[in-house]
Amino acid sequence: MRGRHIESQSVTDILLRPARVWTADFEAPREGLAVLVRGNRIAAVERTDVIRSDAKVIDLPDTTLIPGLMDLHSHLFLYPYNITPWDDQVLKESEAYRTARAVQHARQTLEAGFTTLRDLGTEGAGYADVSLKRAIEEGHVPGPRLLVVTRAIVATGAYAPQRKNYRPDCCPHQGAEEASGIDEVVRAVRHQCAHGADWIKLYADYRVGPGGATVATFSLEELKALVTTAHDLGRPVAAHAMSDEGMRRCVLAGVDTIEHGCNGTRETFRMMAEKKIAFLPTLTVAEAMSEYFLGYVAGKTPPTARMEDAANAFRLAREEGVVIGCGSDVGPFPHGTNMRELHWMVKLGMSERQALAAATSVSAAIIRKDDLGHIRTNYMADLVAVDGDPTHDIAAIGKVRYVMKNGTSFLHRQHP
Ligand SMILES: [Zn+2]
Repeated sequence: MRGRHIESQSVTDILLRPARVWTADFEAPREGLAVLVRGNRIAAVERTDVIRSDAKVIDLPDTTLIPGLMDLHSHLFLYPYNITPWDDQVLKESEAYRTARAVQHARQTLEAGFTTLRDLGTEGAGYADVSLKRAIEEGHVPGPRLLVVTRAIVATGAYAPQRKNYRPDCCPHQGAEEASGIDEVVRAVRHQCAHGADWIKLYADYRVGPGGATVATFSLEELKALVTTAHDLGRPVAAHAMSDEGMRRCVLAGVDTIEHGCNGTRETFRMMAEKKIAFLPTLTVAEAMSEYFLGYVAGKTPPTARMEDAANAFRLAREEGVVIGCGSDVGPFPHGTNMRELHWMVKLGMSERQALAAATSVSAAIIRKDDLGHIRTNYMADLVAVDGDPTHDIAAIGKVRYVMKNGTSFLHRQHP
């Protein structure tokens, strides 16, 4: 099988003819449908024999056409820690080097059928995500649609590299922007928005308590000021929170999404459901960290406590009716393997269709994009064809045969 890349924007209509179409509107895929694309929009979804057009026809036999996939928690500026530890990536690698790698990561992501990412922090690479987003939008490099947050905001001394691990006069470069007090958090939000942030990302807790315990870092007053300022500027807020107290403060402060949530209690997930705060469970990063640092071997050792916590949070969130999107925290594990998060969601109890919805229609709603996440007339033409039927076997999601983003064919792997 050989890959073929087609970079040009369509000037004529394109008619995609897969074996079946899953639009994200109904349970099962339907056979005998074709999708007509005009410019960067879906012009029609019709029975193959009904659509009459002089469009360029792309036949995709044996495939299921689905909406472009979304991962709402990525880090394009990181790569796996078993190759280079996080501290070394942040402290020793220049922004130019990290951006060059991020360009490659963006391509790998799109090749895997993920056409939209909410990239939650450059981790010390400044505002480079804004420039990468621009280069992708202008067509200089291939990549998914990006929603970016720039540097992310942490309480002073409550992130990494941790100063206690270095000479006190060395003052290591931090992986996010530090702020303390109402004035500083407000200034940080305004500064990041001015630099091009689409969302604001904050860290509500971190491993800076006694003995490395995870503790809430920002006060409720700081969080409220931060969220209010972001919302005034039209930016939703994503909150990293592992502890129940960190999550609880975020809920009270009115954030829009909570990331990780491993140690959240049922009461906190219930509050999230009531306030319609979405949850991104990041199940895959729990597995990856367990492999790197806790001796976990898939299929050989039992799940670690970190993995059990993530699975438990996922279960509680589902039982309490929290909106759950697809957010994997890719970066610590290889770009282009985002689909592992869907495998985990199915393994932990979602149907294949629910997991696919989490990564399409539900995630589109979380990021407030009302013309993404479905295959419908007038929606953006972000379309992916995979071999087989992922609503029956989620493994099919890894067999990407064709990718279109914004009406442009990016990848078409022919049958051998
Ligand atoms: Zn993350």
